[in-house]
Amino acid sequence: MIPILDSKRQYAQIGAEVEKEVLDVLRSGAYILGRHNKALEEDLAKFTGTKYAVALNSGTDALHLALRALDIGAGDEVITVAFTFVATTEAIGIVGATPVFVDIDNNTFNIDPAKIEAAITPRTKAIIPVHLYGQPCDMDMIMDIAKRHNLYVIEDCCQAIGAGVNDRAAANNAAGRKMVGSYGDINCFSFYPTKNLGAMGDGGLCTTNSEALRDRLVALRNHGGAVRYYHDEIGVNSRLDEVQAAILRVKLNYINEWNEKRRKNAYFYNELFAGHADIQTPVELDGTYCVYHQYTVKIPNRDEVHKYLQENGVGAMIYYPVPLHKQKVHAHLAPVSLPNTEDNTSLVISLPMFPELTQDEQRTVADTLIAALNKTAAAV
Ligand SMILES: *Cc1c(COP(=O)(O)O)cnc(C)c1O
Repeated sequence: MIPILDSKRQYAQIGAEVEKEVLDVLRSGAYILGRHNKALEEDLAKFTGTKYAVALNSGTDALHLALRALDIGAGDEVITVAFTFVATTEAIGIVGATPVFVDIDNNTFNIDPAKIEAAITPRTKAIIPVHLYGQPCDMDMIMDIAKRHNLYVIEDCCQAIGAGVNDRAAANNAAGRKMVGSYGDINCFSFYPTKNLGAMGDGGLCTTNSEALRDRLVALRNHGGAVRYYHDEIGVNSRLDEVQAAILRVKLNYINEWNEKRRKNAYFYNELFAGHADIQTPVELDGTYCVYHQYTVKIPNRDEVHKYLQENGVGAMIYYPVPLHKQKVHAHLAPVSLPNTEDNTSLVISLPMFPELTQDEQRTVADTLIAALNKTAAAV
């Protein structure tokens, strides 16, 4: 079986370092909001080219608390996509606001900026672009629209840590990229174990350039007060524990290497699929640095092919089988037509993708996919 992701292989590389740090935390007796939390926040602010980072319990909390910190709530509308993980709109629902769906671009799977303005109403407060599968959204255009309409921007970077745009003039990190997570007012990351930078449990983080928003997030994550036992508003308990922070600090040292390996693997898949007109490989726009959280292709007879792959040892997955505007949780929203979202939902399949994947495994994945396509095409 070639899995979609193999965390054990990563552990083989970093296990000794991680075990040393974790043992250190366990013996220290300091488990919450300690030195690793502080250092991780500093390191991730630096990594994303922002002034501040606030570590949290999950990516979902990062989105939820970002909305809270911007005072978005009942009666407000937030523009986003239906082609994403449910947490994006769940956070909007948690604060009592309404998600407004905009269709995606067929090539990038990300929000189509040309369709945003038509969705803006007097109630619109913010846009949440999602850098899906590790591919950066067109942030220049989105920031321009937000500025003209006086809207906040919250980037959902949960699948895209390290992604960016090769813009030397605006570069804010290593290798001369303008980093995702440095455009919006508040930007959200997840350290769920399967993400490109994964903890060994749950974790998340917000970045911002605003000291006031940083302070608000710090209060919200810890029961709504900056001073212990003094509470100014209803907050939550969303602290990142020291064990996870220590693990993430070890892994952050490898993220550039791991993202590079993902890119190399993506390009090797592209080569293997060249000449197969029925496999649409991912489009990486010129000048962008995609981190391939997923390697997602579009194919005909997707569900039959998926079944064949699973039966033949290839751990492919569908992200996501039901777009959010068709989910029961959002059934009360006004119906909306999102043709690209719906088309892509029935075409996409994500193939095994992780830094340690070997070229032999990639050849097997490619051969199996091509065989599945031939078989299902013959059956039609
Ligand atoms: C994973 C993910 C989230 C939620 O992160 P959790 O840490 O699992 O809460 C939100 N948005 C997107 C796009 C994600 O992939």
